[in-house]
Amino acid sequence: MRIRHLPETLINQIAAGEVIERPAAAVKELVENAIDAGASSIEVTIRDGGKSLLVVKDDGHGMGADDLVAALDRHATSKLPDNDLLNIQNLGFRGEALASIAAVSRMKISTRDAGADGWEITAEGGKKGEVAPSAYPKGTQIEVRDLFYATPARLKFMKSERAESMAVKDVLTRLAMTFHNVSFLLESDGKKSLNLPAVLDSGMRLSSILGREFGENSMEIDAEREGIILRGFAGLPTLHRGTSQYQYLFVNGRPVRDKLIHGCVRAAYSDVLAKHRHPMVALFLDIPYEEVDVNVHPAKTEVRFRDPGMVRGLIISALKHALHQGGFQSSSTVAAGVLGAMRPAANIGGFGSSLPLSRGGSAPVPRSYASSYGGGSSGSYGSLAESASSAYQVQPFFQPQMVAEPSARAEDIIEEKQSIVSHPLGAARAQIHENYIIAQSEQGLVIVDQHAAHERLVYERFKAQVKEKGIEKQGLLTPEIISLDDTQIQCLMEYQAQLADLGLEIEPFGAGALAVQSVPALLVGKADIQALVRDLADEVLERDSADGLEERINEILSTMACHGSVRSGRRMNAEEMNALLRQMEQTPYSGQCNHGRPTYVELSLKDIERLFGRSG
Ligand code: ADP
Ligand code: MG
Repeated sequence: MRIRHLPETLINQIAAGEVIERPAAAVKELVENAIDAGASSIEVTIRDGGKSLLVVKDDGHGMGADDLVAALDRHATSKLPDNDLLNIQNLGFRGEALASIAAVSRMKISTRDAGADGWEITAEGGKKGEVAPSAYPKGTQIEVRDLFYATPARLKFMKSERAESMAVKDVLTRLAMTFHNVSFLLESDGKKSLNLPAVLDSGMRLSSILGREFGENSMEIDAEREGIILRGFAGLPTLHRGTSQYQYLFVNGRPVRDKLIHGCVRAAYSDVLAKHRHPMVALFLDIPYEEVDVNVHPAKTEVRFRDPGMVRGLIISALKHALHQGGFQSSSTVAAGVLGAMRPAANIGGFGSSLPLSRGGSAPVPRSYASSYGGGSSGSYGSLAESASSAYQVQPFFQPQMVAEPSARAEDIIEEKQSIVSHPLGAARAQIHENYIIAQSEQGLVIVDQHAAHERLVYERFKAQVKEKGIEKQGLLTPEIISLDDTQIQCLMEYQAQLADLGLEIEPFGAGALAVQSVPALLVGKADIQALVRDLADEVLERDSADGLEERINEILSTMACHGSVRSGRRMNAEEMNALLRQMEQTPYSGQCNHGRPTYVELSLKDIERLFGRSG
């Protein structure tokens, strides 16, 4: 056997496997280059999901002839002038994207530096042609044909063309979310699939991408800790999705798919969302360059933080804070459905169509794009202001209440009127189908799902108790011995005190083992202690904190709450119903049950009148 050095082309093809996993990854690299070149307009054209053709055209500063030749070499970059990996301010820095793409495709680059001559070059399967003069007017255009033709193994693993086009669109969308002053155009098989003109502020771009539903069902995030800033929007728990694909995460303007941040989002919502459902968020983390390492993976979508605990703390507490505020909010998504369902079926043609059933209402969002980012009037996205004329509104609870108009009902007793005036959820009028409380509020009509509501109340009470009296622990008669590897043991021991506070007492037990002395009483008989400690060890290793235990305890509390709450089917008298409404008003997160379903919806009187054709 003899060791030999691989030829350059083969090295690049191997590298391409990591850098350019699929057409969307090539588009990402090329568009990042265009952004780094200061482009203000970027046009992407793809055919067959980018497999047969992808073209990225920009109007940034182009390249001179020498640079054009060098650009195709591996590890050749203009972006690390000081060789400083701790201060990466461009999207690119590894100098391997063009070399990788060129190694596995047929590529042509045409470019012109401002005020200089234009040049072009081709490469096929990594073999560079000669650089030649070009009439290309300004900026750079890179055409990539037959991606992966030179690596048939990779070609076999391509997903469907539709999946690839979607991925390309997703890549562009994410980049567009942070570069609002650049216009993005995507044409896929001759059809425009994305058209985002440059806009003046990021709010306008965000609203045109994320859409109205998210705008109306999200809360603004704005938090800071030791120079690290977190901004963005977090969806209400009622706006959930089956994948985490709608979590848009950015670190210093770079779109990332970071495990730590995704984990934070999951942890923050764990209380208010069913398992396997994912909230929608758009989070922008700005952190000093030296606090974060982006050089983790060739695709540059993962990062490492110097102080992961702090970043985690900042994100989770900011999200939880917002959720707490938003907990008193029901969602417009849900109410839209309600109102739609209430439309008289016979009238759908005439009267139904004249009914402005468009969703809207600035009310559900404490602060919307419009207020915080200066407006949502770009592109096809209608102005948020127009939603003031919406068909329904879902009121956040603690709005300053106006004095009620005198009621027309003669039999209204004064006390009841006062309760309508002073309580956002109003006065209970009836219980129907043994589960729904109908209440009259100052603004209209409230329908409460008594089981969902009560479940949330019981759960919050449990949590409060746990917080107040601490977590009750139960000592084990014979300690449970768990064998783990030494790194895991070391990691867990660093959290010994914190874990003990949560009821889990651990001690080292010779080499390669831990002894568990006590466990949280709530978990006795419900959790496999061995598995729990192992998971905790993994979690601690991975995310540098022992929050997993608290989450798990909350899960158990939530299950217990579900069993311990008023079942649907129980009759309640007026007093009981009103008591439930009053408790809801005082309980955090009461707008959703533990599984993220809404606990109540509100229809305004105005909407009800509209339903009956009573208002103009
Ligand atoms: P990196 O972006 O990490 O530097 P690439 O292989 O993506 O590596 O690009 C290599 C170099 O080619 C860049 O550093 C840049 O100088 C030049 N380049 C690539 N694309 C463009 C472009 N669209 N406009 C101007 N220069 C470009
Ligand atoms: Mg690059």
